[in-house]
Amino acid sequence: MHITLKNLVRTYENVHAVQDVSLSIPSNRIFGIIGLSGAGKSTLVRLISLLEKPDSGEVWYDDKRVDDLPEKEIILRRRHIGMIFQNFNLFSSRNAGENIAYPMEICRYPKDKIRNRVAELLELVGLADKANAPISTLSGGQKQRIAIARALACEPEVLFCDEATSALDPKTTQSILALIKDIQKKMNLTVVMITHQMEVVRDSCDYVAVLSEGSVVEQGIVKDIFAQPKTKVTKEFLSHLTTNARNVREDGVVIWSDVPARYTLRFLNDRVDTPVISDIIREFDVIFNISGAGIQKVGDTKLGTMVCDITGESSAVEAALKAIRERGVTVEEVKA
Ligand code: ADP
Repeated sequence: MHITLKNLVRTYENVHAVQDVSLSIPSNRIFGIIGLSGAGKSTLVRLISLLEKPDSGEVWYDDKRVDDLPEKEIILRRRHIGMIFQNFNLFSSRNAGENIAYPMEICRYPKDKIRNRVAELLELVGLADKANAPISTLSGGQKQRIAIARALACEPEVLFCDEATSALDPKTTQSILALIKDIQKKMNLTVVMITHQMEVVRDSCDYVAVLSEGSVVEQGIVKDIFAQPKTKVTKEFLSHLTTNARNVREDGVVIWSDVPARYTLRFLNDRVDTPVISDIIREFDVIFNISGAGIQKVGDTKLGTMVCDITGESSAVEAALKAIRERGVTVEEVKA
């Protein structure tokens, strides 16, 4: 199902929560909506998911306008909308399987169909053995898996994920995003991902719209936005990105080249801020090829690490290494 938003406006007293938002959310893709706290994301989701009516503007599901439907029809439509939230919103009085069964009971599915589907959904989210588990015994990641299974129970056409990974640690976040991507493909779902984290957009979305003060300031294919951000808001989001974990060693060094390098240089405190490398290049006839670098704080001390190759005439390289050491930089060499 594709969703079209036309000039949506929603104002609370004098707060313009959503101002003239028009968007086309393609079917069978993951569409991110990113914004800071207060940007209007939750309001926009309530409008798109038919929980709230806009003051003006229109919401279309495929070729049908849906925001102005009579209440009864809205309720029926809402049964085919899946939602998951930051705080999971599970019923603590029901066990995992019973939580998943809940929307199917509302939709009056026959009992045996519910039983089969609960088992199928538990399997889908990788928790086949947790049917009878009380919610309080589940980890955050497991709770979100149960919430995802519940959201999918009545075969929705669209899944809204409202800050679904914001309460989870980075590793669990990655596993939940992988699950959502997997389900999106398997079920041909349209997924709308609301987040304040650019990592979530990078690691899961095909498209993104950047929301600021109730308006869409930028939108497009994720890799295009990453390569050429146009607005200050988007650039700000990108500047806070943490690097993809696989490129970062445990000591914080970011490695951007696959070519193994021979030297590791360690810079302490004031050396971190001096142009040692430039000085050496100017003084000696050598070439630096830097393949990774990073900085850590150890107590009050700054420790810089650089992984590199130094090439040139062997006498020049030797002299350069000696000069680097004399400047208080530690040099470790991996013997070929
Ligand atoms: P986000 O989800 O991006 O944090 P929200 O949609 O929650 O943003 O809020 C956007 C703005 O609208 C905020 O200034 C918020 O205080 C206001 N707002 C949201 N919902 C209501 C409401 N029900 N009543 C009054 N003001 C609201």
